[in-house]
Amino acid sequence: MNRKYRKTVIAGNWKMNMLPSEVKPYADTLRALAGKTKHCEVVICAPFVMLPQLIKALRDCRIAVGAQNVSDKDSGAYTGEVSANQLRDLGVKYVIIGHSERRSYFGETDEMVRAKVTAAIGAGLIPIICVGETLEQREMGVTKDLISMQVKLALSAVPPEKMRRVIFAYEPVWAIGTGKTASAEEAGEVCSHIRAIIRSLYGARIARAVTIQYGGSMNKDNAAQLLSMPDIDGGLIGGASLDPEHFAAIIEAANQ
Ligand code: PEP
Repeated sequence: MNRKYRKTVIAGNWKMNMLPSEVKPYADTLRALAGKTKHCEVVICAPFVMLPQLIKALRDCRIAVGAQNVSDKDSGAYTGEVSANQLRDLGVKYVIIGHSERRSYFGETDEMVRAKVTAAIGAGLIPIICVGETLEQREMGVTKDLISMQVKLALSAVPPEKMRRVIFAYEPVWAIGTGKTASAEEAGEVCSHIRAIIRSLYGARIARAVTIQYGGSMNKDNAAQLLSMPDIDGGLIGGASLDPEHFAAIIEAANQ
């Protein structure tokens, strides 16, 4: 982390878990444990159907709400889609874009990620753009080339003045939901690489201000070590965010 230049952001990704009836008890517990966090921004990214309730339950505290997906279209005849403007109007602040589960199960391409990032920024949402390699790609030695391509394509329509409202999450696919975590050094090295790409595209001043998270089986026991790396500015947390006490312990590690 480097709090001098950029914001630390700890985001929970509930994925397709939790029920509407569980939102209020969860939010009340998290608010009591971490509602006054000072040194990092906390976000919960929930399924669409729970967003209004979560926003209401977290009103007047410092925990923000995010979505897990967004349409690249502004409005119109796109049955089943949810637009960036609809999310913004509801009070949503962040949106996860290009999560590896969407890329692998729903065929989301780098071109779709680029279009969704553009739509999100246009509506005033902060995109959390996920990039990461599979185990096979890591073993083939193409991790950095792949990440470079994902980052460059995602940013190809983002002007410099909007870069302060962009977050990256480095999520090695082999570490998501598997209990396998990248070592702090492995994760730190790829996050530094992401910053170097941003520097080559936008210059040093913008690159040092961009928050880059790590995601992949982050938990209360490994969070402090991962966050001690200079280019890891937070976490995108799946499984461990489902328990508010466990999630609060990760937030606590980021507040040190
Ligand atoms: C994620 O959903 O982005 C994630 C990193 O999941 P987990 O923490 O469960 O590996």
